[in-house]
Amino acid sequence: MPKYCYYHPETEAFKECENCGRILCYKCSMSYWKTNALSSMFAAQKNEKEKLTLCPSCLRKSRIRNAVISGLLLILVLGIIAGSIFFAIV
Ligand SMILES: [Zn+2]
Ligand SMILES: [Zn+2]
Repeated sequence: MPKYCYYHPETEAFKECENCGRILCYKCSMSYWKTNALSSMFAAQKNEKEKLTLCPSCLRKSRIRNAVISGLLLILVLGIIAGSIFFAIV
């Protein structure tokens, strides 16, 4: 018995979401690079091993989480710069 996509009950499944295990059709299997902002700064090349197959909802969650991490990192860096300027003046 063939499996069908979680989002499209009429379309045969192609892959599974590696995060929640939902079965997905070709259209719904989203490739997601596991590299975050920090690691992509150091690794210019994207590694096939870091590629995940995610459903659209997990992809959105991963993107939000990545955006939050990048935002916090930026605040941290800005804080260090502001701190060093402050101590340079004092
Ligand atoms: Zn998922
Ligand atoms: Zn689908």
